[in-house]
Amino acid sequence: MATLRGYRILDSLPDERFDRLTALAAQHFDVPVALVSLVDANRQWFKSAVGMTQPETGREEAFCAHAILTPDQVMVVPDAPRDPRFADNPLVTGDTHIRFYAGAPILATNGQPLGTLCVMDREPREFDRADRQFLAQLAASASDLLDLHLSHLTLAEAETRDPLTRLANRRQLETAMDAAMESAFAGRPFALLSIDLDGFRAINKQYGYEVGDHVLNQIGQRLSSSIRASDVPARIGGDEFAIILSDPASHDIARRVAQRLIADINAPIEIDGTSDGRQIVMSASVGCALALRHGTTAAEVRRSAKEAMYMAKREGRDRLVIADEVVPLLANASYNTIEHRLEEAIAQDQLKLQWQPYFLTGDGRLTGYEALVRWTCPGHGPIVPSTFIPVAEASGLIGALDEWVLRASCRAALEIPEDLTISVNLSAYWFSREELVPLVQRVLGETGLPPQRLILELTERTIITHTDSARHSMESLRDLGVGFALDDFGTSYSSLNYLRKLPFDRLKLDRSFVDDLGADRQAEAVACAIMQLGHALGMSVCAEGVETPLQLGFLEGARCDLVQGYLLGRPAWEPMEASTPVQAFIRA
Ligand code: C2E
Ligand code: CA
Ligand code: CA
Repeated sequence: MATLRGYRILDSLPDERFDRLTALAAQHFDVPVALVSLVDANRQWFKSAVGMTQPETGREEAFCAHAILTPDQVMVVPDAPRDPRFADNPLVTGDTHIRFYAGAPILATNGQPLGTLCVMDREPREFDRADRQFLAQLAASASDLLDLHLSHLTLAEAETRDPLTRLANRRQLETAMDAAMESAFAGRPFALLSIDLDGFRAINKQYGYEVGDHVLNQIGQRLSSSIRASDVPARIGGDEFAIILSDPASHDIARRVAQRLIADINAPIEIDGTSDGRQIVMSASVGCALALRHGTTAAEVRRSAKEAMYMAKREGRDRLVIADEVVPLLANASYNTIEHRLEEAIAQDQLKLQWQPYFLTGDGRLTGYEALVRWTCPGHGPIVPSTFIPVAEASGLIGALDEWVLRASCRAALEIPEDLTISVNLSAYWFSREELVPLVQRVLGETGLPPQRLILELTERTIITHTDSARHSMESLRDLGVGFALDDFGTSYSSLNYLRKLPFDRLKLDRSFVDDLGADRQAEAVACAIMQLGHALGMSVCAEGVETPLQLGFLEGARCDLVQGYLLGRPAWEPMEASTPVQAFIRA
């Protein structure tokens, strides 16, 4: 049974290589039923079946359970009702009316029988030597296929699994970390535990490697059995383990899980082979790091968890240290640093804005600027928005940040010609609460900027998660005269329904489409379709990230209304510095 389970083939999907064998058997012997049957503890399961619709039967009614008792012979039952073993078998007495059976054992490489390749008939039959030989050959082919299946499985696992504990290996952990990091930025943070056994080398020395392996195995099993299925336990080297805890609801939960794991590790481990039934008690030093809080890349999170684990070792072992204690302020661009520093930056007016112009196609007239926030962290240098905006969003600082940007933008708008608009990016944060309308009203009131000159840019992600409250706020602001642009269009789920329901004035075609213009026909087709869609819904379309005259030419030809990008104007500290596009338009 254990041998069969090792093949992990029970309940697997159909495989036409096995189906060819049963089809051949049915045809050759001219029988209604042919099966590849694998015999498990209390059932037989059919890897392939001709003439049998149910996927399995109970073991007690399996002819094959008898056939595998003589692994080197083909078992033949010429007329079942006359055979006391099968006379009252449901397959014989019931609707299937089986009378004849011949089954050749399918063997594992170690000689253990796993099941049979068998044929059945509703008439009694004879089965001569040649018949037996042929059936045995088919069964041998089935054995070969199972071997092949097993070696593929082993190969695939060698890439991703630690052979001793069957936990994920280092490589697999890294893959999982990358995926987890992406989820973290999408709002589902994770914790990484770095676990190192205390004094393991002494165990190997004192009891030998076999006992050492047994201990590692036990610890591996305990770790994986006390976490959730979505968590990833791994053994990444000698006595070093790691676990990704996906989406722990809080800091505290990660801490509690880690403490429970430490207790699990502490439970005594029986060691076989010692006559007096001796036990070993292990302990571990554990470091815990939280994505975004202790690192904004997978490598940083790993390093933070490991540093915390080293600290646990230094502090006397058998304990947990959370990376808060080890991530030194400013040592790297990690979350702690960013969060603290960003809070200061907002309070102390250290943020700055850059302005990127947008132009009408055709005459190339400047119509406005997008405000892009910039932050130079003292002692660290410039940090790009794609690093600190997610941290600001995760920590709630985004509210203060966007408010600062909105106020600064409206003030700056008063310094530039009255016919130019100002676009401001807003994060999803605002639509989970009711504060946007009063904020915008307040800022417009304070600065005296006409609402018609303000355009708020929202991403698809924002409005998809909060469609109802977004519509409510947008409609109130639109009544005041404020405009809305849908940013990064085409990059997310793109449900067209909300486009119709929400009052957008402008669609911004994402840079990724513009990048491929002139190079990729399909990207061009999608870009054209998006422009048509925008126009059909009464919106203007702005292409972002225009970098080449070729792209500009294409967009003009496709009746794109507005363009923005490095070709026409890079983000600049002073609005007017950025707006010298005329030459680009002339060339294009
Ligand atoms: P976004 O709203 O899509 O902003 C456009 C980004 O594209 C800017 O990056 C801009 O510098 C860059 N860009 C413009 N033209 C080109 C081009 O021709 N080629 C290339 N390769 N890039 C171009 P940036 O400034 O790094 O901003 C990144 C994102 O951060 C923005 O994407 C926006 O989502 C967010 N962001 C920026 N400022 C704010 C803000 O004040 N509040 C909020 N909530 N988010 C902001
Ligand atoms: Ca934008
Ligand atoms: Ca954009």
